[in-house]
Amino acid sequence: MYIIAGVLFITALAGLSKHETARRGNAFGMTGMTIALVATLLKAAQQTMYGGFRGLPYTLGLIAAAMLVGLAIGAWRARTVEMTGMPELIAMLHSFVGLAAVLVGYNSFLDPGVGNTGSMETIHRVEVFLGVFIGAVTLTGSIVAYLKLSAKMKSAPLMLPGRHLLNLLILLVSLALLIWFVVDVPEFGRFDRGIIPLVVMTVLALLLGFHLVAAIGGGDMPVVVSMLNSYSGWAAAAAGFMLNNDLLIITGSLVGSSGAILSYIMCKAMNRSFVTVIAGGFGSDGGVVGEDRDYGEHREINAEAAAELLANAHSVVITPGYGMATAQAQYAVADLTAKLRARGIDVRFGIHPVAGRLPGHMNVLLAEAKVPYDIVLEMDEINDDLPETDVVLVIGANDTVNPAALEEPNSPIAGMPVLEVWKAHDVIVFKRSMATGYAGVQNPLFFRDNTQMLFGDAKERVEDIIKALPTGSTQGTSSAKAATVS
Ligand code: NDP
Repeated sequence: MYIIAGVLFITALAGLSKHETARRGNAFGMTGMTIALVATLLKAAQQTMYGGFRGLPYTLGLIAAAMLVGLAIGAWRARTVEMTGMPELIAMLHSFVGLAAVLVGYNSFLDPGVGNTGSMETIHRVEVFLGVFIGAVTLTGSIVAYLKLSAKMKSAPLMLPGRHLLNLLILLVSLALLIWFVVDVPEFGRFDRGIIPLVVMTVLALLLGFHLVAAIGGGDMPVVVSMLNSYSGWAAAAAGFMLNNDLLIITGSLVGSSGAILSYIMCKAMNRSFVTVIAGGFGSDGGVVGEDRDYGEHREINAEAAAELLANAHSVVITPGYGMATAQAQYAVADLTAKLRARGIDVRFGIHPVAGRLPGHMNVLLAEAKVPYDIVLEMDEINDDLPETDVVLVIGANDTVNPAALEEPNSPIAGMPVLEVWKAHDVIVFKRSMATGYAGVQNPLFFRDNTQMLFGDAKERVEDIIKALPTGSTQGTSSAKAATVS
């Protein structure tokens, strides 16, 4: 059953890598998890029955009670969470995996089950130590990520002097504690002093997790989220070793390595180095968050004029961002897209890899609103076409379309590739104010000559444009007809 579940988890990941197969991937994953749960119950029942049938109702009752509590909380959270709250929820779930690994580690230390001797005891101790270490780093790191993503803690990086040295010191001390923990094994019946290095290391690892994530600035959070995803996988794998559970090892490794691949993809998308990410506090040197610079005056446009501009366009690119998620504007955007395409206008989407607050955030929203997959393009696929685009609609995006990333070397987002929307003929930016984006930096795009601001809630403004679209034939339609004729 474990092998079948493991294979289903792998096919689930394969399915989730493409829009078209994502649902099927989820179904495989859920089937695999059901099989895994049944197998775990059967295994627990089998182990209990070694001591006769009497303990069986007690063991199964305990597991069922824990599962019911978990199911109730999980079902309630899944039903009530807003799409905009998903990143925080995921960060919180990662912290649970970290906590579980710490608890399993302590449990395995205090009650190893069978008495290990010699090299088996050494291996067991290394497993316990690493499991607790990874778990503790994941626990506090994920809590800080949760606080930052839910704006309960400011997203500006915590810049302690000598912070890299501090991290290195914690690692070295932990290594020394590992040696103490492994070497100082008590003789039978004597007090196990190993608890001392274990507890000291746990405190240090909790501090390290806090510090690694606190040192990371707003714009770089996507990498942290995927990195913690990876850590949570390794924490689960470590727990699998301690519990002697093959499936947990397989599943943990799958999550750990797919999270690491995702972190690598996110690093490439953000133009950050993978090693400095792991060291913490990357990409935040030099930049001044919230720096006030005078970029001049901005221009405004209303929905009617925007509708007119769109109706006369041949090509339109929509670049959504976090604001589309908060406004829940995806249905209105899908509706506008359908209406413009019906007029023969070429409408495409340009998705930045870190748009929103979660990898793939925009793709999920657009898929939910049934926007055809073939017009949803990645940043690299659309950037070259932007200079030939008539109108770009920036819907609730900010950092991901900020030219300062390319033009201002001191900006906290310097070096991050962005959607180069300013190269289009006209740009309309949908947002409620002149406020900054998640990274806290002003956006010179808003002050460019070809940019016009459409203020207000993105959903309401898109609906206003739909209402204001002129009826009848348009330039877009006639040119499309001309194109068809030719
Ligand atoms: P930003 O967070 O930079 O900006 C979103 C913009 O949407 C804001 O400027 C806001 O302006 C506007 N907005 C908010 N609500 C509404 C509304 N109801 N109607 C209209 N506009 C609205 O968005 P991006 O998607 O461009 O960038 C994502 C940022 O988040 C990046 O810095 C990225 O690094 C970071 N991040 C990404 C993660 C990921 O995995 N994708 C994870 C963690 C962080 P106003 O308030 O004026 O309306």
